[in-house]
Amino acid sequence: MQQSDRVIIVGAGPVGLCLALALAQEGIRSCLIEALGDDNFLDQIPRAGTNHPATLEMFDRIGLYRKIEPRGIIAPIFHYWDRSENELVAAFDHVHLEHDTRFPYVLQCERIKIVEEALKMAKAHPDIDVRLETTFTSFEQTADKVIARVSGPVGKDEAIEGRYIVSGEGARSIIRKDLDIEFEGFTYADRTLNIEVAYDFRRHGYAERNYISDPVEWSNLFHWKGPPDRWRVHFPTQPEDDPDAIQRVEVLQARLQAFLPKPGDYEICGSNLYTVHQRVAKKFRSGRAILAGDSAHVNSPIGAMGMNSGVHDAFNLADKLIRIMRNEADERELDRYERQRRHVAIKHTQAQTMRNKRLLAERDPAIRKRNNEELRRTAEDPKLARAFLLRSSLIESLREAEQIE
Ligand SMILES: Cc1cc2nc3c(=O)[nH]c(=O)nc-3n(C[C@H](O)[C@H](O)[C@H](O)COP(=O)(O)OP(=O)(O)OC[C@H]3O[C@@H](n4cnc5c(N)ncnc54)[C@H](O)[C@@H]3O)c2cc1C
Repeated sequence: MQQSDRVIIVGAGPVGLCLALALAQEGIRSCLIEALGDDNFLDQIPRAGTNHPATLEMFDRIGLYRKIEPRGIIAPIFHYWDRSENELVAAFDHVHLEHDTRFPYVLQCERIKIVEEALKMAKAHPDIDVRLETTFTSFEQTADKVIARVSGPVGKDEAIEGRYIVSGEGARSIIRKDLDIEFEGFTYADRTLNIEVAYDFRRHGYAERNYISDPVEWSNLFHWKGPPDRWRVHFPTQPEDDPDAIQRVEVLQARLQAFLPKPGDYEICGSNLYTVHQRVAKKFRSGRAILAGDSAHVNSPIGAMGMNSGVHDAFNLADKLIRIMRNEADERELDRYERQRRHVAIKHTQAQTMRNKRLLAERDPAIRKRNNEELRRTAEDPKLARAFLLRSSLIESLREAEQIE
């Protein structure tokens, strides 16, 4: 195979790694470029962690599921709580999806563990040329190839050739900017505060994954496997809040104690603030350059859809690139990738995560009451619960995308 018969993938995040592994499984070579090196790859801030059933099926296809399952928590049930009423509103059980998926549960397993395991697999695969400590800077494309310019370890510049280039660089994608593709949407004015705590919230009736509505301070509460086991609590902040002041230990302590009073201090393991965007790129492809994952769409993490839908992009794209590289299909397949995955990003991921935020932050008591009644009714009716779970776990989005020609 010529060098130009490989795919250049920028970014060894979950999307870039899954794409490289899915291509390699079918004998398609790639060059995977990642700015971080072995010494700092695992230092990334806490992000995604809830992996939906359809994503687990995809991880299983490349042999990744069995590596991450022991490092995560199998969670069939998730909860909606109303903090102002101090009540469990609804418990949704993925058992309703037992005929829709081989994995009727989510796996609570953080992004960092997934990329750590996937990177080990990529490094061991002869068809993936992993370049760590290599920063992608620009690219050009001709009628039959792309040339990526990178700055490698010790600042050595290099030009890497391939047939296609895929941006798995995340939200700040250079490729998207170089192509002048608009990132349509908006950024929420308020940031979200994430606190990592070593405390078992299950003793108060919480599930491994909880969405908690409140007219003043909504939150999310998630459990991660240790040792020691940790929980992640999300709270909203005000746009004018001073980031340092709201992350002082005593302020975090007070916030947690107000959320759930308990004797003694919480053991706080860390905190960070993140900005939330709702944006979708106007195009996912321009010639031989293709966007996937956060470089193509970013959304609120409420509902756990960013990484999941990015991984779904990776597998959709892999299937199309495999057929193209084998001369079984032409490049119109890549336009279909754009039509399918852009539809999902707008109509499913973005629409649903915006709805989720509105649901949790709703202030009007009458609407809150109506929302709670609807959630309760849905969770209690097996048919409605299945329909709800098909949407929340993104299975419906995949089925709908398949119908798009
Ligand atoms: C607090 C929080 C919680 C979240 N929770 C969830 C959740 O529960 N479930 C979910 O589905 N999603 C969640 N998300 C979203 C999720 O983290 C992202 O959607 C996902 O990580 C995107 O994957 P990616 O591979 O596209 O990009 P990234 O994960 O951003 O990876 C990009 C990679 O590219 C590398 N890179 C960037 N630029 C360059 C360059 N120029 N040269 C070389 N390498 C480069 C980076 O170092 C990085 O390794 C959450 C996000 C946040 C902020």
